[in-house]
Amino acid sequence: MSAEKIKITFLGTGTSQGVPMLLSDEEVNLSKDKKDKRLRSSVLFTWKGKNVLIDCGPDFRYQMLRADVKSIEAILFTHEHSDHIAGLDEIRPYCYKQGAVHIYAKDRVMESLERRYEYIFAKENRYPGAAQIIENVIDDAPFELLETSIIPINVMHGSLEIFGYRIGDVAYLTDVKTIAASEREKLKNLDILVISALRINAHPTHLNLEEALQMISELKPKKAYLTHISHRLGFHEEVSKSLPENVFLAYDGLEVQQD
Ligand SMILES: [Zn+2]
Repeated sequence: MSAEKIKITFLGTGTSQGVPMLLSDEEVNLSKDKKDKRLRSSVLFTWKGKNVLIDCGPDFRYQMLRADVKSIEAILFTHEHSDHIAGLDEIRPYCYKQGAVHIYAKDRVMESLERRYEYIFAKENRYPGAAQIIENVIDDAPFELLETSIIPINVMHGSLEIFGYRIGDVAYLTDVKTIAASEREKLKNLDILVISALRINAHPTHLNLEEALQMISELKPKKAYLTHISHRLGFHEEVSKSLPENVFLAYDGLEVQQD
């Protein structure tokens, strides 16, 4: 465990299609409030002056420009769906500047990345401009990064087993539907929990707002932030007012510092 405090930057807080969603004229998609504009979900954890990214989706390039991120220590992947991986090719400027970037994923996710980005993973006859990565296949055993313990948390995204991550006393869980009791044990005494809350109505593979609040009240973090939000959750301002005292709706660009 590191005594170093962690800063979280919410690079994107939207569901897979982002908010506003293309071609929709539902009211939240027409909102003028900047906090209702959500790129695809991704966060930056910063400690010891280094940046660790969780997921690297289709909005990666603009997210890096917007948050002015100068270097990436590692990328931790939660799962292989496009809204969480589609930016991998865009890490090239970081590779050119700092060399190969460490990526961490479970075996199934790494294999999926390899299929989609065969030219990045190629060992021979590599395209000279391709992104350079160092693969780190992980299972649910804790590992160290920047002298801090990273604990992969198995969460269920419908029937798909995916990873959330506990970094020190901060955890990021996205695309959650259920969490086994044994995994919930690993989420005790958190300072900050980031957890997905898709919308008001139930969904087969995501927690809705009510279920996310129930999970938070069971896990009892000091503070919780909701992410991976669809326009069907409602307006940021209105939903925010309805939340319990220690629960906040994240929005793009929000920075949170561990106390
Ligand atoms: Zn997603």
